[in-house]
Amino acid sequence: MESQAIRDLVILGGGVNGAAIARDAAGRGLAVTLFEAGDIGGATSSASTKLVHGGLRYLEFGEVGLVRKALVERDLLLRAAPHISWPQPFLLPLLPGGRPGWMIAAGLFLYDHLARRREVPGACRVDLRAELAGGALKPELGRAFRFFDGWVDDARLVVLLARDARERGADIRAHDGAVRARLADGLWQVSGASGHRVAARLLVNATGPWAEATARDLLGLPDPPRLRLVQGAHIVTRRVNRTDEAFLLQQADGRIVFLLPYERDWSLIGTTETPVADPGAAAITPAEEAYLLAAANAVLARPLAPADIRHRFAGVRPLVLEEGKGDRETTRDWRFHHHAGVPATTVVGGKLTTFRRLAEDLVSALFPGTQPWTRQARLPGGDIPDLGGRTARANFLLWSRALKARFADHDPALVERLASLYGTEAEALLAGGLGARLPSGLFEAEAAHLRAREFARTEEDMLWRRTKLALTPERRPPHHLVHA
Ligand SMILES: Cc1cc2nc3c(=O)[nH]c(=O)nc-3n(C[C@H](O)[C@H](O)[C@H](O)COP(=O)(O)OP(=O)(O)OC[C@H]3O[C@@H](n4cnc5c(N)ncnc54)[C@H](O)[C@@H]3O)c2cc1C
Repeated sequence: MESQAIRDLVILGGGVNGAAIARDAAGRGLAVTLFEAGDIGGATSSASTKLVHGGLRYLEFGEVGLVRKALVERDLLLRAAPHISWPQPFLLPLLPGGRPGWMIAAGLFLYDHLARRREVPGACRVDLRAELAGGALKPELGRAFRFFDGWVDDARLVVLLARDARERGADIRAHDGAVRARLADGLWQVSGASGHRVAARLLVNATGPWAEATARDLLGLPDPPRLRLVQGAHIVTRRVNRTDEAFLLQQADGRIVFLLPYERDWSLIGTTETPVADPGAAAITPAEEAYLLAAANAVLARPLAPADIRHRFAGVRPLVLEEGKGDRETTRDWRFHHHAGVPATTVVGGKLTTFRRLAEDLVSALFPGTQPWTRQARLPGGDIPDLGGRTARANFLLWSRALKARFADHDPALVERLASLYGTEAEALLAGGLGARLPSGLFEAEAAHLRAREFARTEEDMLWRRTKLALTPERRPPHHLVHA
C-alpha cells in the first residue's frame, strides 16, 4: 500500500525523540509519517529512571549549558503534563568518602539558580534524624540536603506525544518497523514491515540505540554516527521509602544510585552503566542486580534481599561517542548528524527531559521558515484548569479532588487512578461509563481508549506501559496524590 501524497518528513523510531519530532513537525503543518518497529515508547524511553532533571551530577563535568537547558525543560514539562509529571523531592545524605558538604551546597546553589524555577522549590539542609523519611535509613546517617527535580511517567509521555502528533495530522505507524529505505530522485522511499510505503523529502533517523546500525545497514549511508551503547538497569522492590522523598546515593566509584518511591507500594532503584553491543538484548545482569542491592543496603536500616525484588528492567543509553571519556563523563547532550549529500539526519544521544527542545531545534533547522509552537503547549489530558494553585501540580491536585466529588458514586481511589493516567480525559471516561472491570484490572472503556487512542495492542502495552496495573495487584491511589 502506498500513501498518495509525498510526505515532507519520514521519521524512523517512535521513542521520545521520534514522537516529539513528529508532534512538533505536524503542528507546523508538515506532512509526517513515523515508523516504529515495536510499541510506541517501548524501548529506551520506557526503561529510564523517569526523572525530569537538569542532572545535578553533570555540573561536575562542566556541562552547565546542558544542565541549564534541561532545567528550563523541566519546568515546561511539569506545566505541560501535570497529570503524568510532578515535582520530585530528593534527600542527598552526606556519606563518609562522598563529596564534601560545601561542594554539594555549591552545586545545589548553582542548580537552583541556573534557570527560572516556577514549579519546584529550592534546596535546603536537613537532619535526617528529624525527618520521617530518614527512618528508613541507618541511624548514623544525619546530615543531608533536600532538593527538587521532576518525575514523569516516561512510557505515557511518549504515547501522549505520539497521540498529539496524530491529532495534528501525523501518520503514526506503531508495530511497523522500517525494513527498506532508499533514495531515488531526491525522495526517500521507505517501506514498513506491514508493506506500507511512503515517499518523503527528508528522513530523520531517531532510532536511539539502533541509530548507528540504522544509518549504516538500513539507509546504506557511508557516514553513520558513532555511538557508545551503555546499558542501565533498574530493580523494583518492596517499598523502602517512607515518604514521597527519593534518595540520591553517592557511590564509592563516583556514580550515584537513585532510590525512588514508585507507584504506591514500590521503590525503584537504579541505575548501572554496563557497555553492551546489542540494544535489542538489553537485560539486567546478576552483577548489576547485586550492585543495586548493595548500593541501597549501604544506607537502609532494614536491608533488601533478592526476594524483595518484584520487577527488573534494563535500557540502553545511546551516548555520543567521545574519545578518551568514560561512560560517566560522556555528554548526555544530543547531536544532529546531518549525513553528507543526502536529505537525512540521525539524532544522536539526548535525554528524556530534553525531548521538546531537541525536536524544536531539529524541525527549525530542517524546515526554516516554519514556526516553533510547543513551548507553552499542553499534552493530551494536561489541560488542567487554573484553580488558583501555586504550581501546575497543585492545580492538578485541586482538580482531581473536585473530580472525586463530582463522581462521588465511584471509588475515590479509582477516580484518582484515572485522573493521574488520563488527566482531563478521565472526565469523559467516567461520564461515558467505564463498563465492566476486566480480570486485568482495566475497565472496558479504558481498554477501548487505550486501543483506539493510545496505540496499545497487547496486554503488555496496556498493563506495563500505558498503566502499571501489572505491578500493583490492587488499585489504590499512587502515593504522590496525597501530597500537595
Ligand atoms: C537506564 C536509563 C535511565 C535513564 N534515565 C533518564 C532519566 O531519568 N531522565 C532523562 O531525562 N533521561 C534518562 N535516560 C535517557 C533517555 O531515556 C533516552 O535518552 C531516551 O529515552 C532516548 O530516546 P530515543 O527516542 O532516542 O530512543 P528509544 O526510546 O530507544 O527509541 C528508538 C525507537 O526506535 C525504534 N526502532 C529501531 N529500529 C527501527 C526501525 N528500523 N524502524 C522503526 N523503528 C525502529 C525502536 O523500537 C525504539 O522504540 C535514561 C536512559 C537509560 C538507558
